[in-house]
Amino acid sequence: MIKKNSINNEKIVDLISIVKSFDHVKAVNNVSLGINEGEFFSLLGPSGCGKTTLLRIIAGFEKPENGNVFINGTNVNSVAPNNRPTNMVFQNYAIFPHLNVSENVGYGLRNTNLSKDKILKKIDEALKLVGLKGYNKRASSALSGGQRQRVALARALILKPRVLLLDEPLSALDKNLREQMQFELRQLQKSVGITFILVTHDQTEALTMSDRVGIMFNGKVDQVATPEQIYNKPETKMVAAFIGSMNFFETKCLEKSSKTVTVFHKDLGNVKLLKNNIFGVENTKLTIGIRPENLKIISDNLKIKSKSFTAKIVEKSFMGDTMLYSIKLNQSENNNTYNISVSDIKNSLNPNIGDEISVAFEEDDVVAYYEE
Ligand code: ADP
Ligand code: MG
Repeated sequence: MIKKNSINNEKIVDLISIVKSFDHVKAVNNVSLGINEGEFFSLLGPSGCGKTTLLRIIAGFEKPENGNVFINGTNVNSVAPNNRPTNMVFQNYAIFPHLNVSENVGYGLRNTNLSKDKILKKIDEALKLVGLKGYNKRASSALSGGQRQRVALARALILKPRVLLLDEPLSALDKNLREQMQFELRQLQKSVGITFILVTHDQTEALTMSDRVGIMFNGKVDQVATPEQIYNKPETKMVAAFIGSMNFFETKCLEKSSKTVTVFHKDLGNVKLLKNNIFGVENTKLTIGIRPENLKIISDNLKIKSKSFTAKIVEKSFMGDTMLYSIKLNQSENNNTYNISVSDIKNSLNPNIGDEISVAFEEDDVVAYYEE
């Protein structure tokens, strides 16, 4: 299904040094990004970081003040949106309320020279794809939010774009329906094989649906990687803080070897970091990060190879499938709390608030960032 382009170019969308400002805001600040043919790609980031602007630049609704947009190997900077092989699905169910389902889905084909029968057949196919078989005559006003979004999808897919652009298409749906649609959208993308570029501020959505994710902050793309890489090796402190939960500890550099850097923290002691897990521009101060599930509560007398430190439990929350402990360190003067999450509750020690505990971690699991 994945078709290669003529000259060694598997990138269906290639953005080179894109800049776009509004008044004094750099909405997109020098972004270069390649998206592969047939992939499900998400642009993830907090509200206002420039996701929609970047998507609109790909669609041709915004003109970048600097940079080039290539689609399928062609520079499309001066190509109008309707002449690009892209189509967009918006957040706010942009379907025509006065048209029924079939009329909405077939809208983009109305001025083509396809026969009426052919168009009806294509409408049926598109409706089947989005799980709305037989809804042809239904009035738009008689559709639920989820069904309207399916109609919008069918209307975009019927035109067979090379790239489908989706701007927070599920954010107006309630949680259960959103999760179901996430799954269906992923299945749909696999079955049609079209490149999907999804904009979302919802990390779970991006991580569960995508082949790769690009994370944006303040108009810049901080990291582009698979969901696993993003979670396990976030390459900037902002990505680390944004994705999941992360305990940060401030440390000082003690010594360096060819593959490791040893740092010191009052409570954690000396920690030997793998250079592959360290990011940023070299400095004497590093912030290290350990995920809550990588901190293990252990019994005192246990002889282990991993690093350990002592702490006190200040809060404990039962989350159903996990127990979340909030701890304070013994030596550090600051009042920070850190999190430990335990998923195998039944087979774990179950300390109480106020208890002194020993906590172990593996040095390989630690990521680190040089202070700016
Ligand atoms: P996101 O989709 O990530 O929430 P946007 O791309 O919509 O972010 O916006 C990025 C920044 O650009 C924001 O600061 C926003 O206020 C600004 N912006 C976006 N569109 C316009 C516009 N048409 N006019 C002025 N400012 C805009
Ligand atoms: Mg947006």
